[in-house]
Amino acid sequence: RSRQLLSLCDLPAETLDRVRMPLLANIGFAADGPGARAMGAEGVGLYRTEYSFLLGETLPVEEALLQEYREVLTSFAPLPVTLRTLDVGGDKVLPYLPLREDNPFLGCRGIRFSLDQPEIFLIQLRAMLQANAGLGNLRILVPMIATVGELDEALGLLARAERELVAEGLAAQRPQVAVMVEVPAAVFLVGAMADRVDAFSIGTNDLTQYILAVDRNNIQVSTPYDSLHPAVLDAVRNVVSAAHRHAKPVNVCGELAGDPAGALLLLGLGVDSLSMSPALLGEVKRVIRCCKQADARRLAEAGLAMADGFAISRHVHAELDRIK
Ligand code: PEP
Ligand code: MG
Repeated sequence: RSRQLLSLCDLPAETLDRVRMPLLANIGFAADGPGARAMGAEGVGLYRTEYSFLLGETLPVEEALLQEYREVLTSFAPLPVTLRTLDVGGDKVLPYLPLREDNPFLGCRGIRFSLDQPEIFLIQLRAMLQANAGLGNLRILVPMIATVGELDEALGLLARAERELVAEGLAAQRPQVAVMVEVPAAVFLVGAMADRVDAFSIGTNDLTQYILAVDRNNIQVSTPYDSLHPAVLDAVRNVVSAAHRHAKPVNVCGELAGDPAGALLLLGLGVDSLSMSPALLGEVKRVIRCCKQADARRLAEAGLAMADGFAISRHVHAELDRIK
């Protein structure tokens, strides 16, 4: 079976009715790039930049970040590489910048942290813009956006980083920008944000946690934590329809994208690309190549009318058994 999956690497992720579904990788280290590419990734949909911040004992310097980002962009060029800006806070606390909060997952996380500490954010943005110079395959992804004002502030700092680099005579290239939809408020703001950015990426891990008010890391509530919950799938449907109304593509980079049942539903919901851990690429590609998008759409429509995630899961697994 694993040989079969490996031989799939060079085949396109395309349904029987010829709909292409680009499959991208989620990685967190530049060294993971070549392996992910060898496993058939058509780019990086989510590069978690926080790992290099979490590993060190001090804040990384701009030059080190530039080298890291340049390495991963180079290993995929001309394929797109999506670098997510720092997503610390929640359960990922920088050892050298401790935060004390009663509810860290509702606290200074993701973009809130970056806007709170603009000097750190600017170092990261400067490294990203310089890494993109002459390559042009960078996409910047902004996590935990909950208001249009946060997005505007982040875009303002990006423009400032670019101005500063130009003034210093350093090579920099403007990237595409995407917003993560992982806070419920963002689901309702896609239309308002669409003209400001190039794309959206749904983070189903946090979106599930926040829509259902269930801690994603608490095993005591692992049963109610369910990304197949109809409310989560309905949120995905709403994001896709609002983004497509503005001709902006939607990627999904949460764990749901790497789950065969989830991938089939997301195909049916009209998502444009899926990003997952490289080890899951082969199995998801196999599923995509065995089905028709038209059938997946009917499957998703039927699923959305069901009362809970268990029923949806049973329904989708019956279809997976049929097509495999
Ligand atoms: C998500 O929330 O779905 C996501 C992809 O980001 P992370 O898992 O890093 O929070
Ligand atoms: Mg997240």
